[in-house]
Amino acid sequence: MKVLIVEDEPALARALVDAFTEAGFVAEHAADGEEALHLGAIEPYDAVVLDLGLPSMDGVTVLRRWREAGIDLPVVVLTARGRWPEKLAAFSAGGDDYVTKPFEIQEVVVRVRALIRRTSGNASDEIACGPVRFDPSRGSVTVDGRPVRLTAHELKILDYLLHRRGRIVSRLDIIDHVYERDQDRDSNVIDVLIGRIRRKLGVNMIATVRGRGYRLEAPGRAPS
Ligand code: CA
Repeated sequence: MKVLIVEDEPALARALVDAFTEAGFVAEHAADGEEALHLGAIEPYDAVVLDLGLPSMDGVTVLRRWREAGIDLPVVVLTARGRWPEKLAAFSAGGDDYVTKPFEIQEVVVRVRALIRRTSGNASDEIACGPVRFDPSRGSVTVDGRPVRLTAHELKILDYLLHRRGRIVSRLDIIDHVYERDQDRDSNVIDVLIGRIRRKLGVNMIATVRGRGYRLEAPGRAPS
């Protein structure tokens, strides 16, 4: 899962990027409103953490512009304590949730994770598909109760496939959601990683859809 952190205070931005990276996300950073507006329009983020007081364009305007352009990225807004009008403006501009400063960094991670889960239609924190269970907050995977050890990149790919289970995802979709913008994007690497995930899971759940990509589905269900 890929998140955009929009925050102009360097220390706070760094702490957020570190916390999200630690939690298994790909975290990218924008330090001003114009840059955030641009990145949100061109990059397929799974969620955005948006500070409101920003250089060049305030957060509420960024949010309103995204919504006007039909960009429905899930957004968690960072607001200052006691700034109710600001909070209200962020909600009417299309914010999905908010965290009041000062906050525990982990609270932002938890809220983003919950927001992504709700947006993708998952009711509980743990994601289950057939014999596979994935706990995003622990980064743990089991198959029929047996723990499976995946590398960070394998885990990111499985996380993405589980959130889109039953749907075809292209190699490019996977690359977009598990690698940072500037990283080398080689779709052969995705094939290799998918192969490893299949072997480690030991159950046939990730189908190759010729010419289009992959689809994760519970075993025993005929693809539609
Ligand atoms: Ca600020």
